[in-house]
Amino acid sequence: MIEVSNLTKKYGDHTALDSVSFKVEKGHIYGLLGPNGAGKSTTMNILTGYIAPSEGSVIINGFDMGLKPHKAKACIGYLPEIPPLYPDMNVYEYLYFASSIKKVPASKRKDEVARVMALTNIDTVQKRLIKNLSKGFKQRVGIAQALLGEPEIIILDEPTVGLDPEQIIEIRSLISNLKEKHTVILSSHILSEISAVCDEVLMIAKGKVVALDTTDNILKMSKKSQKLELLLKGTQEQVEEVFAKLSLIESYTFIEEADGRCKFEIIAVESKEDIREELSFALFDAKILILEMRSTLASLEDIYLEILQSCVDEKDEISENDDEISVEEMSSDSSDFESENDNPVDEKEEA
Ligand code: ADP
Ligand code: MG
Repeated sequence: MIEVSNLTKKYGDHTALDSVSFKVEKGHIYGLLGPNGAGKSTTMNILTGYIAPSEGSVIINGFDMGLKPHKAKACIGYLPEIPPLYPDMNVYEYLYFASSIKKVPASKRKDEVARVMALTNIDTVQKRLIKNLSKGFKQRVGIAQALLGEPEIIILDEPTVGLDPEQIIEIRSLISNLKEKHTVILSSHILSEISAVCDEVLMIAKGKVVALDTTDNILKMSKKSQKLELLLKGTQEQVEEVFAKLSLIESYTFIEEADGRCKFEIIAVESKEDIREELSFALFDAKILILEMRSTLASLEDIYLEILQSCVDEKDEISENDDEISVEEMSSDSSDFESENDNPVDEKEEA
């Protein structure tokens, strides 16, 4: 339904997107995940035809965004990073106006505005001026605007940024409900957000796609996925003797020993076999009792950092003296680059 091939976007000398390709299938919620400055907004602005790529193509439902922009754009509702709201209009007037821009037939506009207001739960504020709304309500008006005309694809750029926890929960449940009728792509630099709402994750870092998979599969990608914590009845020496004979242990760390019990942490070798089986039988044979065994699955957070780190490593291999960026910087929470990003108008394509 969306096919993106070799998208590259350069701002002067700066390459914001570097040969990005991916496909989006119907009926899922995709999370575009990446640290600030990764290229999320640039990707979304190109997908929606707001800006043109330097190279590459975007095909939406068979329509090439470069060649058939009207048809391609008609399939998409977009909430940009800075919602295109008119502060001096009231909610109803604004949505009515937006529906005319989206070419909803005049006879259907009233019903369509009522429909999106009901979906986003903003009926009660329809007479209020947009400038007097809370951030949460403004965001809902922005989403309502994206839903006008029932486009198949809804694209939301960091829809919960700046909201308080209660508003975040409301917006997330609103987004989850969109899945029934729409394919949704939302961006975020916050992992918990993506794992809470999305079933597919597209991870980007420094303008490149570094992972595209289901949230579940991405969780399995981690090297840390077979980590075990053990509390055993026995001495360090006895236990280490058993560990030495096991083929599925890649490494272990002795944590502590007290009162005839000891604690270990084990990393298993990459294998389909469950190390817990081999381990329990071997310990049983040596008459060592397992008091506790905890398997610590890696979190999406671990994997995010692992992947970001591996991007840095790869880059360092290529050019050692290039500007080094640490994982901390890459995943930092500052959003102060926004000011650089607010004049995409010069790139705006004729509609
Ligand atoms: P994200 O949304 O992931 O935070 P962006 O797509 O906004 O990232 O930005 C990607 C990179 O491109 C950043 O380094 C940003 O500073 C740069 N950039 C974005 N928009 C512009 C612009 N209009 N002019 C120059 N550089 C830009
Ligand atoms: Mg952005």
